[in-house]
Amino acid sequence: MIVPLLKGLKITLSHLFQKPITLQYPDEKPQVSPNFRGLHALKVSHDRAKCVACYLCPTVCPAKCITVEAGEDQNHDKYAERYEIDMLRCIFCGYCVEACPVDALKMTGEFELANYKREDFVFIKERLLEKR
Ligand code: SF4
Ligand code: SF4
Repeated sequence: MIVPLLKGLKITLSHLFQKPITLQYPDEKPQVSPNFRGLHALKVSHDRAKCVACYLCPTVCPAKCITVEAGEDQNHDKYAERYEIDMLRCIFCGYCVEACPVDALKMTGEFELANYKREDFVFIKERLLEKR
């Protein structure tokens, strides 16, 4: 009877002096891996999104949560006039990033995506532009 009790006490005491593996979230934020697949970001080059509205990412997306509408600038270059991702449907597979032929899309370490209204989970182009 006393031996199991002492064994249990020994385990408890040994854990008292170990570094905790839990974090006091949200006061302490975790360091996510560089490969973490969080919120997407549209990369920016020369003050505009690199996206050329080729439609590959909405085509490859298994959750069908990307909406792209192409526009044409004064040089007849295509750009994404509308680019939206519905994060409620996204499964964070990363296929969209892999498919992009111009490396215009990336996934960031942003994981705090909780919100109150369904419409707030739709990230429009302005919200997705890469922060510098
Ligand atoms: S990560 Fe996957 S599910 Fe999410 S938008 Fe990209 S392709 Fe679609
Ligand atoms: S695959 Fe890249 S360039 Fe094509 S629409 Fe998606 S983000 Fe834009």
